[in-house]
Amino acid sequence: MAYDIKVVNTVRERHFKPTPRPEIWKDASDKDWNSWIWQQQKRVKTMEQLEKVIKVSEDEHQAFAASHEMFNMAITPYYASLMDPNDENCPIRLQSVPKGAELHIAPDDLEDPLGEERDMPVPGVTHRYPDRVLFYTTHNCAMYCRHCTRKRKVADPDSAASSKMLEDGLAYIEKTKSIRDVVISGGDALSNSDDRIEYILSRLRAMDHIEVFRIGTRNLVTLPQRITDDFCKMLKKYQPVFIHTHFNHPKECTQEAFDACARLADAGCVLNNQMVLLKGINDDAQIVKELNHKLLLMRVRPYYIFQCDMAQGISHFRTPVEKGLEIIQKLRGWTSGMAVPHYVIDAPGGGGKIPLLPNYLIKHEGKKWILRNYKGVEFTYMEP
Ligand SMILES: *Cc1c(COP(=O)(O)O)cnc(C)c1O
Ligand code: SF4
Repeated sequence: MAYDIKVVNTVRERHFKPTPRPEIWKDASDKDWNSWIWQQQKRVKTMEQLEKVIKVSEDEHQAFAASHEMFNMAITPYYASLMDPNDENCPIRLQSVPKGAELHIAPDDLEDPLGEERDMPVPGVTHRYPDRVLFYTTHNCAMYCRHCTRKRKVADPDSAASSKMLEDGLAYIEKTKSIRDVVISGGDALSNSDDRIEYILSRLRAMDHIEVFRIGTRNLVTLPQRITDDFCKMLKKYQPVFIHTHFNHPKECTQEAFDACARLADAGCVLNNQMVLLKGINDDAQIVKELNHKLLLMRVRPYYIFQCDMAQGISHFRTPVEKGLEIIQKLRGWTSGMAVPHYVIDAPGGGGKIPLLPNYLIKHEGKKWILRNYKGVEFTYMEP
């Protein structure tokens, strides 16, 4: 039986807005604007350029001058267009423009907060869990996030993953039969050329013991133009391909991002989001809920909320752990389970990801389990 209803995809128009272009890029052609190469070439890297996009504050000015050597600023025109020109605390600005606070190294800050160097059998591969590895394939990113954990590597051209490192990594994965899942990471895995990515995927697919791989990228957020039809067509050959991305705020969920996610999902990719809990950006249950609802509309499953780790110069982004627990408490039961990610702390020193949950278990005596539901009402479950 056929229905007479004209089915159109109104989700895109109803829930997502196109990104308006600031004056400085008004003259760029649509062809240029939609080209990731143009976006990459025109990244905002100087104060002079930034001042044409936003009203730069005194603190941002000073922080830029002082942080330049350590951790560059680079913002794609697309992402810069999402910034509020007049609000220094705009969540997009806080993620991309240097702030004075990042120059402060807190006493508890760690140089290698996740102990990634410790579990490296070969340079470029972190093998911490029994059946999966983190594989670094580049140290570049489309944009440098101010809250980045890998600051000491990212944006340092001398630490770029060489071909030899790539080959050594692949050789390790090939000979280590316990590995079935490879996280292709960086930097941003999509800073590699399509050819290099295809080379990596084809090498991994040729290994009998490799079942799945994930591509870790923030390009869906900072450079959605990178997700071209050609790229998606290439991925189709290597399914199942999981894409792990990093949306932090509903403002990042634009029509451009929606389209990029749609192209990947239509090519058969499974999309997951790894949000980082950041003070002043998304440390609010309502914001996280709105973000996660938008993500589901883009066919992206909220996968993790990371407690901000102990990397140097990001202590101003760290929230109390209580905040993360409160967010989960305010999501679970109150909205679709699909919109509730796991809240984890990546343990300092290489302990791995440790999940935290609000306490739903009140008491456990023998066969009797006293629990509370999402509204705080108590229930008893009896084991046989
Ligand atoms: C996060 C991570 C993984 C993947 O962990 P999942 O919980 O499977 O997503 C693998 N290796 C390392 C070193 C990691 O940090
Ligand atoms: S995309 Fe990821 S690796 Fe690159 S700067 Fe941002 S957080 Fe760091």
